[in-house]
Amino acid sequence: MTTLHTKDVTPLRRGFAGTVFTPADDRYDEARKVWNGQIDRHPAVIAQVAGTADVATALAFAREHGLPVSVRGGGHSYGGFSMCDDGVVIDLSALRSITVDPHTRTLRCGGGTTWAELDAAGQQEGLAVPGGTISDTGVGGLTLGGGVGWLTARHGLSVDNLISAEVVTADGTPQHVSADENADLFWALRGGGGNFGVVTQFEFRAHPVGPMVELGLFFWPLAQGPEALRFIRDILTTLPPTMGAMLVGLNAPPADFVPPEAHFAPGYALLIAGFEGSEQHAEVVAQVRRGLPAAFELVTPIPYVGLQQMLDEAAPRGLLAYEKGLYVEELSDEVLDVIAEYLPRKSSPLSITPMFLMREAYCGVPEDATAFGGTRTPKVAVNLAATTADPQEFEADREWVRAFWTALTPFASSASGYVNFMTEYDENRVRAAYGAEKYDRLALIKAKYDPGNVFHLGANIRPAVA
Ligand code: FAD
Repeated sequence: MTTLHTKDVTPLRRGFAGTVFTPADDRYDEARKVWNGQIDRHPAVIAQVAGTADVATALAFAREHGLPVSVRGGGHSYGGFSMCDDGVVIDLSALRSITVDPHTRTLRCGGGTTWAELDAAGQQEGLAVPGGTISDTGVGGLTLGGGVGWLTARHGLSVDNLISAEVVTADGTPQHVSADENADLFWALRGGGGNFGVVTQFEFRAHPVGPMVELGLFFWPLAQGPEALRFIRDILTTLPPTMGAMLVGLNAPPADFVPPEAHFAPGYALLIAGFEGSEQHAEVVAQVRRGLPAAFELVTPIPYVGLQQMLDEAAPRGLLAYEKGLYVEELSDEVLDVIAEYLPRKSSPLSITPMFLMREAYCGVPEDATAFGGTRTPKVAVNLAATTADPQEFEADREWVRAFWTALTPFASSASGYVNFMTEYDENRVRAAYGAEKYDRLALIKAKYDPGNVFHLGANIRPAVA
C-alpha cells in the first residue's frame, strides 16, 4: 500500500474545501467502501471534493506524485472502478445539490447524486428524468454509460435527456459542455463513460411522470419455465409502446404479496410499469391473467419513487457481486431455451437476470447523436448477475454467470453489450461495445481532453495516437 507522509498530504489539505482521508483517518475505511463487497482497494488518498476547484487540486496532486486517479460517483459499478489501489480517489459524494425548474422542465444535480435523491426532487414538481432501476445507484456512472430503466421506451436513455454538464478535464480545466459548447466533449460524455473528465454537475430534461404510476408484477415458478418464458415474450412483443417492461429470472421475495410456500422460490417474473393511466394498464393485466395464470402477482398503483426503489432490496450494498451482459435483438426460442436451461443452475437466491426492453423512444434517437454503444434498434439488454454473501456460493455463481453468458453469445447481436453491465473490461470488448467507428471517434476526443489517459479505470477508451 502506498502511504504518503503527512507532509505530502498537507499541501493537498491546504486550501481544499472538502475533506481528505488517508489510511491514518478513522473514516478512511468507511470512505473506501463501495457497493460490491468484493472490492477491497486501498487508495493513498480519498479526496472528497466540495466543488470544481477541489477537483482541479486533487488532479494536480495526483499528477505531482505520479499517482493513479479514480472517480467515485455512487460507487455502484460492479468492478468497483471508483476505487483505486495506491492512488487518489476523487470522491463526489458531497456534490449532491439538486435544483428543479418546473417552468423549463429541467433539473440540475451534483456529480455525486444518487437516483433516489434525483427522483425525490423531481417528483416534488411531478417530473422525472429517465434513470435506472436501483435507486442508490449514482447518477454519474449510470448516466455517463447510457442509463437504462423504466422510462427508456417512453423518454429514451438518461444520456438522451442530458442537456449540459460541468466537467473538469484531466488538466484541471472546468468546462461547460452542451450541444453548443465543447460539442465534441458533450457528445463523448453521452455514453463514453468516465473517460473524459470529472462531471461535477449534470443538467437534464425532465418529463411529467406520476406521482402515481401503474405496476404489474407476475411470477411463474421454474417448473413452468419454458412455457412461461414464451408467454412473457409474447406479451412483451404486444405491449403498448411506452410501457416500461422487464423479464427477470429471480427468486420470489419473502414479501406480503407472495404466498408463504413461494417465498424464495426460483422462477421468472414479468414486470410492467404503466405511465399512461390505469385503463391501458388494466388491458395488459387482463391479457396476462387470461393467458397464463401466474403463481402470484402484484398489480397496483405505486408512487413513481416507489417503483424506482422497488428492487433495491434485491441488491443490497456490501455483498459479493459479479455480472456480465449482452444484447439480443429478440427473445427467440433459442434464447429462451438457454435461459430455461441455465437459470435453474444458480446457487444464490440473490443472483438475478434482469432483461431490459429497449425500444420506442430509445430507437427514435439517431445512431450518431450520442456516443452510446448500442445500436438504436429494438433490443433486449440481458444482465446476468451473481450476488451473495457467501464466498463459496460466489465462486459457483461467478462461473454460472460466465457459462450462461457463453451459452447466450451465439444468439447475441453484441456479446459485449452495455458498458455499464461489465465487471471486467478489455480493450477488445470495449471497442466491440461501441463499434469501431464510435470507438475511433471517442479515441480522438480522448486524445484531445485526456491524452495521458488519467481517467483510465472502467471501460477505458485509449487516446488515439497522432
Ligand atoms: P461508480 O462506481 O461510482 O462509477 C462508475 C464509473 O463511472 C467509474 O468509472 C467512475 O469513475 C465514473 N463516474 C461516476 N460518476 C462520475 C462523474 N460524476 N464524473 C465522471 N466519472 C464518473 N445501469 C442501468 O443503466 N440501469 C439499471 O437499471 C442498472 N441497475 C443496476 C443495479 C445494480 C445493483 C448495479 C450494481 C448496477 C446497475 N446498473 C444499472 C449499472 C450502473 O449504471 C453502473 O454500475 C454505473 O457505473 C453506476 O454508477 P455509479 O456512479 O454509482 O458508480
